[in-house]
Amino acid sequence: MTTIYGELKPSPRILLGPGPSDVNPRVLKAMTTPMLGYMDAEFIQIMDETADMLRAVFGTKNALTLPVSGTGMSGMESALCNVIEPDDEIIVCIKGYFGGRIADIAERLGGKPTIVEAEWGTIIPPEKVEDALKKVKAKVVAIVHAETSTGILQPLDEISEIVHKHDALFLVDCVTSLGGQPVDLDRRCIDIAYSGTQKCLGGPPGLAPISFSGKAVETIKNRKTKIPSFYFDMTLLERYWSGEKRAYHHTVSMTMVYALREALRVVLEEGLDARYERHQCNAEMLKSGLTAMGLELIAQDGYRAPMLTTVAIPDGISDVNIRKSLMNEHGIEIGGGLGDFAGKAWRIGLMGESSTQKNVLLLLSALEKLLSKEGYKVEPGAGVSAAVR
Ligand code: PLP
Repeated sequence: MTTIYGELKPSPRILLGPGPSDVNPRVLKAMTTPMLGYMDAEFIQIMDETADMLRAVFGTKNALTLPVSGTGMSGMESALCNVIEPDDEIIVCIKGYFGGRIADIAERLGGKPTIVEAEWGTIIPPEKVEDALKKVKAKVVAIVHAETSTGILQPLDEISEIVHKHDALFLVDCVTSLGGQPVDLDRRCIDIAYSGTQKCLGGPPGLAPISFSGKAVETIKNRKTKIPSFYFDMTLLERYWSGEKRAYHHTVSMTMVYALREALRVVLEEGLDARYERHQCNAEMLKSGLTAMGLELIAQDGYRAPMLTTVAIPDGISDVNIRKSLMNEHGIEIGGGLGDFAGKAWRIGLMGESSTQKNVLLLLSALEKLLSKEGYKVEPGAGVSAAVR
């Protein structure tokens, strides 16, 4: 017999992990908007408006800017499969888990990755990129802006200059940074950038905003081989997302486009500078509170991403107990460590809607209670009072 399950009723949560983050109620409301056909002139206009607002948030005039169907990984796959051909040299900077994924995908495409590494929790020094570029004639240099596994925010300006001096394309993963930190594609001469909707943009997971510079578009046009993915072929997607005459490519999720459009409206109404400032202030509050509780922040000082803080799990404290109790007793989700940091770190996200003073104070007081219960010595109220100060 088929079971008919009960009505969907997830418990309320405060999402302070590595994403997804809390979604603005306006975005949830937009998602209840009725469908339009994928070629309806009204929907085309909604697509145009969405792409336009994406350009503003990316800081670019790039014509080829659109949201690809799928999560951040579809952005990563699209970015790479459109420019990498078999035997192409690509320099991949790895200082955490997601840099490793870029190398993996480049290899699957037949590219030849040269890895430039830095210890997890530190930045990639620009000289290392320059050294690698002197050794290989790379077509692309790829790097993650905000590395979600370590909480590092990678400075990009100097590396961009080096990459362009060597006439390579600069590819940046902005999945976690977009909407919470300036990515400024045009000012920084970033050729290819992709993101996700579920982090600092304040939407649900499901679309991957992406942007290609004129030079990147030329590279795609001059390919010797066919783009190996139909779904992520930018030359086909471009014909659906721009121009006078639109050509069907695949049925995009109207619901997700509505969601992204509303999320971008919320971002731009707040103002980009005000939004970056909010992310920075709340991150400072959190970091002061955690430090006052005697907890150790993992990411290199001076390069800490405001939207993602990594904390070393103190000796003798159970990672799982704390995260379970945060969830079950306080409805708060934080992330466990990923890859090399599994079991060693907590990842606390303050992204988009989730980045509020209230959430910082709630988390600090809940953490203090739970850590004390586990036998960790912490002065009562130390975290909250440092954060408030
Ligand atoms: N790149 C970075 C830096 C990320 O943090 C993530 C996800 O957390 C991804 C790529 C992949 O995105 P998704 O999980 O949305 O596919």
